[in-house]
Amino acid sequence: MARSEVVVDLSALRHNVALLAGLAPAAETMAVVKADGYGHGAVEVARAALEAGATWLGSCSTPEALALRAQGIQAPILAWLDSPDEDLAAGLAAGVDMSVSSLSGLRRIEAAAEEADARPRLHLKIDTGLSRGGCLPRDWPELVEAASRHEVVAIWSHLASADDIGDPSIDLQAKRFDDAYQVARSLGLDPMRHIANSAAVLTRPDLHFDLIRPGIALYGLNPVPTDHDLRPVMTFRSQVVGVKRIPAGESVSYGMTWTARRDTNLALVPTGYADGVPRALSGRMEVFLEGRRRPVVGRVCMDQVVVACGDDEIAEGAEVVLFGDGRGGEPTATEWAELTGTIDYEIVCGMYRPRVRRIYT
Ligand SMILES: *Cc1c(COP(=O)(O)O)cnc(C)c1O
Repeated sequence: MARSEVVVDLSALRHNVALLAGLAPAAETMAVVKADGYGHGAVEVARAALEAGATWLGSCSTPEALALRAQGIQAPILAWLDSPDEDLAAGLAAGVDMSVSSLSGLRRIEAAAEEADARPRLHLKIDTGLSRGGCLPRDWPELVEAASRHEVVAIWSHLASADDIGDPSIDLQAKRFDDAYQVARSLGLDPMRHIANSAAVLTRPDLHFDLIRPGIALYGLNPVPTDHDLRPVMTFRSQVVGVKRIPAGESVSYGMTWTARRDTNLALVPTGYADGVPRALSGRMEVFLEGRRRPVVGRVCMDQVVVACGDDEIAEGAEVVLFGDGRGGEPTATEWAELTGTIDYEIVCGMYRPRVRRIYT
């Protein structure tokens, strides 16, 4: 075992993909694999998702999409956020679908299409209220008109608060999305529609349309309080590299923030904040070691943490689970997120680090 290891359970991922695709039987499924598959490895995740019923892939940028093509992945891929000087011609030549939010963006794609001698496949993005990317409704007819001499595969949008079930913004965005669709229809187009992220896949079947775009739920993390049988895909583990017994009154780690009240066995675990353990978890986290949860005591260091084990004899080399799917009683990424005031998305994306070995089962 490496010092720090992320184990990615591709059978859990396939289970999640099949579950999500089954919730939207009339739609196709785009597996969102941006940010290296939310820290799980984009290529491996993409392959497993396609095996399990996804037919599309979603990347953030053209380089992310090209990384999938370079591994021989042929499925349609949408890339939605490039810098203005990105080599779009390479993306078009590789058959990457592109998102368009503005006339200037359309012109860049047209120039690249000429350079690559390729026909662009466009997904026109309407801003229905997130106010991030996307074309505002007042500019939409002009954009649709200008794009309509190309292949317009889809119109699409992204929801701001789909994880807040019943939030009125969801219906407002849905209404604006439909208005944009009617404009496209009136200009003679018959595009696919897609707007549903994981939360909407799980809670808003009326928004599934032709294609769903789940991200986090593929990885088994549920952004809404529903009881769907999603299985967390990532386990973060390490192993004990040293054990010792300290006498009562001795303290542990920088700042000596924790002091043993009685003689205590300690296990040294060689993973720290440089490996993805948030330092903010100092004094607040537990790990699963030799059959039970045990507290990490003292501060989380760059490369290591110390676990208090009472009188239990711990063997060097014993496996330490930092987070996993929780079914064995170990902490979860969601628990870490709650303890540190973030979302589990950030925890798993943060595991994409050269120091952390990733393995697949
Ligand atoms: C990240 C992303 C998704 C997936 O969102 P989840 O909440 O992870 O399901 C879908 N669409 C777009 C445009 C995204 O950027």
